[in-house]
Amino acid sequence: MIKVVKFGGSSLASAEQFKKVGKIIRADASRRYVVPSAPGKRFLADTKVTDMLYSCYKAAILEKDFTGQLKEIQARYEEIIAGLSLDFSLEEEFAAIRENFGRKIGRDYAASRGEYLNGKVMAAYLNMEFVDAAEVVRFDDEGVFDAETTNKLLEERLSKLDKAVIPGFYGAKADGSVVTFSRGGSDITGSLVALAVQANLYENWTDVSGFLIADPRIVKNPKAIETITYKELRELSYMGASVLHEDAIFPVRKAGIPINIRNTNVPEDKGTLIVEGTCRQPKYTITGIAGTDGFASITIEKAMMNSEIGFCRKVLQVFEENEISIEHMPSGIDTMTIFVHKDALEEKEQQVVADIRRAVRPDHIELESDLALIAIVGRGMRSTRGTAGRIFSALAHAHINVKMIDQGSSELNIIVGVRHDDFKNAIRALYEIFVDTLA
Ligand code: ASP
Repeated sequence: MIKVVKFGGSSLASAEQFKKVGKIIRADASRRYVVPSAPGKRFLADTKVTDMLYSCYKAAILEKDFTGQLKEIQARYEEIIAGLSLDFSLEEEFAAIRENFGRKIGRDYAASRGEYLNGKVMAAYLNMEFVDAAEVVRFDDEGVFDAETTNKLLEERLSKLDKAVIPGFYGAKADGSVVTFSRGGSDITGSLVALAVQANLYENWTDVSGFLIADPRIVKNPKAIETITYKELRELSYMGASVLHEDAIFPVRKAGIPINIRNTNVPEDKGTLIVEGTCRQPKYTITGIAGTDGFASITIEKAMMNSEIGFCRKVLQVFEENEISIEHMPSGIDTMTIFVHKDALEEKEQQVVADIRRAVRPDHIELESDLALIAIVGRGMRSTRGTAGRIFSALAHAHINVKMIDQGSSELNIIVGVRHDDFKNAIRALYEIFVDTLA
């Protein structure tokens, strides 16, 4: 049994957090490959080491004195090292970093030091081998991630090591220059390592006990999702539920390796298991509810629209030419509505309306902003009657007017559009009808 374990920034923000992580790893001998993030926030108003590095490097670029900022970063690590009573020093590493910053070696290199140094501390603490991600995670000359070469390099290297620490978030081009993934990218490294060692499980340890059925800022103490499929996760992430970097899914999904999201602060919780498919019926009809605010809609009306060939194409072309991405497109017989992100439309609104008028000569165009979309997602919906009915009666009881309905053809989700002011109440009403009433 091989498990790859990735620990997020808040799991490694202090010596105290490191000790929890050490305990988790030592509790299970199959937890053999460890991928750490950089130290995150110790408290709400704290700054992540990655952000400290970005701002320190900015000072270096502007040729300002950055030594004070670098010292603060060094102090974060020294606090951890001292708290773990390690006989270990990063003095040489910091001397090299100072010199490289002075040479303006690159922003990605700067950011990557957070994971690099944390990996060094972690390897010393766990007495494991340190593998520099720059040697095994490869980007091409244009800076595009090279999956094939990475898999080969990782496989080769890790097959010789029983246990290892591989820092997350970065890799390098063939010439050695460091490139990072986008923010939160240590999740991707964990996934790549899991693929390379053919792990049985990829454990992603963070500060929540997995995905919650609804946003805890809206619903009080929502329950955690026990098992979720990749497809359901995609639907929920699209609507803003974020725990895991999107690009972390592809490598393990392809290889059929499940991901388990776990909580470093409550290791006894089982967390959420993300799988390709499962026979396990969810406890509730729905797996999760997620929503985002900030949509605008453009409704186009024209008599006999349904018989006008090319109508949709012409309308869609207007959005394409104005470089606006379309999020949803519910339609009636003589109407079609386009949902877009409000920010994307704002500047170009009048242009878009004029272009639509010219393209299809509609009878009427109506614009509406301040809309929110809510996705009710669940593989259980396919085999349950009355889901839509329950959604709409719950919303009606809460005096919420539904502005749009869109049921995905996979029967995996139903999306409803509501006014911004009704957004939170709608989510609460949906949670209540599907979860609370069964609890
Ligand atoms: N440390 C990086 C960030 O803050 C990467 C990560 O934590 O996954 O985005």
